[in-house]
Amino acid sequence: MTQSDPVDYQRIIENVYAKVTSLEGKGQVAHYIPELQHVDATQFGVHLNTLDGSDFGVGSNQTKFSIQSISKVLLLTLAYKERGDTLWKRVGVEPSGTPFNSLVQLEHDCGIPRNPMINAGAIVICDILMSDLSDPKGEMLAFIREIAQNSKIDFNPKVIQSEKSVGYRNTALINLMRAFGNIENDIDQVLNLYFSLCSVEMTCQELSRTFLFLANDGIDPITKQRILSLSKSKRVNAIMQTCGFYDEAGEFTFRVGLPGKSGVGGGIVAVHPEHFAIAVWSPRLNKKGNSYKGMKFLELFTTQTGLSVF
Ligand code: GLN
Repeated sequence: MTQSDPVDYQRIIENVYAKVTSLEGKGQVAHYIPELQHVDATQFGVHLNTLDGSDFGVGSNQTKFSIQSISKVLLLTLAYKERGDTLWKRVGVEPSGTPFNSLVQLEHDCGIPRNPMINAGAIVICDILMSDLSDPKGEMLAFIREIAQNSKIDFNPKVIQSEKSVGYRNTALINLMRAFGNIENDIDQVLNLYFSLCSVEMTCQELSRTFLFLANDGIDPITKQRILSLSKSKRVNAIMQTCGFYDEAGEFTFRVGLPGKSGVGGGIVAVHPEHFAIAVWSPRLNKKGNSYKGMKFLELFTTQTGLSVF
């Protein structure tokens, strides 16, 4: 607890954690990526970082997990920084209301994905980085490590291989976009970059630290380094708010009321601008592919504290 932010976060997160831990272990671990099934489904961690440098954790908050689609926000951050508004010629900013790997709208929308938070959108952004950067995979990892202020963040090669072995839908998405002229580079190379991005591993502690800049108008509050302009940081938060949970983005906004992003590894990260970033991890997913206990935790947390953006 600090003077500038007189909320007793440690007590609150421990209290909410105890309530959610006692709930029945509903949902299922992601089964369509074989490597993700090996995780211990009972693990549950929470970590919160405030802008003044304090942090609070509970449970499995220091265990690494596959952040999966959460890394789409970091990819967007890098590409938006590099490309600016020209990005929006290749990918939209509308919520899809469909599952993260759906093909349905892509045909209708002539190969332009609805937003960067679904698989098709992130694949297009990987394609853009392939055209712009000489070593896209290395530069992307270096960028993530820089934002995380942690040189140990890495890809998991087993998860990359595992996703490749079952990447039928992602292959279908990229081929459809290629047919519409919205993919410029070699399909296998773009998919390799996309699967590498999805395989990044972090702990809850590392994840909430990494997202602090989005709670602070684009500036890392600890290093004081500007990562995104004020306007771009607001827009990335707006995209997380409207698109971060696929066909459950409305539900997350309704129940939690924070910009956030989920991944099929069971992680969720959310930010409260001017206050904090919080990461929650519990591998069992609900039917929409979002962490069951993670959603529940954040709903109780923002309800109990009144700390939502609405
Ligand atoms: N790697 C996963 C996929 O491409 C990411 C999906 C997710 O986390 N929602 O299917």
